[in-house]
Amino acid sequence: MRDFSQDHSTLALNTATLGHNLEGHGAGWSPEQVIDACAERGYGGITFWRRELAGREVEIGARTRAAGLQVVGLCRTPFLTGPLALPSEPEIMDDFHRSIDEAAALGTDVLTIVTGGPEPGTKGVLESQKILADRVARAAGYAAERGVKLALEPLSPATAGNRTCIMTAADALNVCDAVDAPNVGIAIDVYHVWWDTTLAQTLATRGKGRILGFHLCDWLADTSDILLDRGMMGDGVADLKALRNAVESAGYSGLCEVEIFSANTWWLRPPEEVLDTIVTRFRSCC
Ligand code: ZN
Repeated sequence: MRDFSQDHSTLALNTATLGHNLEGHGAGWSPEQVIDACAERGYGGITFWRRELAGREVEIGARTRAAGLQVVGLCRTPFLTGPLALPSEPEIMDDFHRSIDEAAALGTDVLTIVTGGPEPGTKGVLESQKILADRVARAAGYAAERGVKLALEPLSPATAGNRTCIMTAADALNVCDAVDAPNVGIAIDVYHVWWDTTLAQTLATRGKGRILGFHLCDWLADTSDILLDRGMMGDGVADLKALRNAVESAGYSGLCEVEIFSANTWWLRPPEEVLDTIVTRFRSCC
């Protein structure tokens, strides 16, 4: 397992952590401000959200690399299933393709998929996983031609009513198996899988070479909001080192991105303080 105690060159910021990708939240920093602040602090990379790029993908990608940072990923595809997805399949696939184009323009090779929930008219998640696999399979070639990998991110069961139809790494790997494309893998976010005592075993047996991202935050013991009350690393109950050991044992050697949705705590603080705290906690808790 890598030692981060004296070195945070593998630390990346997911810009969700600064709040500005959600209307009315955060300090409103521009991508340029984020890039400069991360570079100053020795971060290794940044993952952006589509909303903040707004047609400037090429420019922001180049600016990030010029500052010595890696563009780790892009969040995210539209919902591909479920009640929050666009109303028709052609609209879903069009926006899916657009998100792939944007990842390619940004110059990142990882586009995250948050799947969306159970398809209206169905019960449970298995039928929706089939629809998901079909839609991912139909976009996988398009993504491969543009050098983009698709990372299926399982989300906590608490969000499965409308935001996900894959809740465990095993679910995500089942969909990968059904898609069967070399550029489709999974992302592991500690917030969503910290509770899964079978995770390490699943990744050890099935995850080799298929983990495309690792996301850090913490699960607060008394969380007040499943979406917007994530904890800073070290403030919660997730065994962050064990989780990282599980992904690294399965061969993951990429950057570790901090992704903290925190409307009432971290999004209210000055971004400089948040970024500094992340460095300290990354070295001491992750
Ligand atoms: Zn994540």
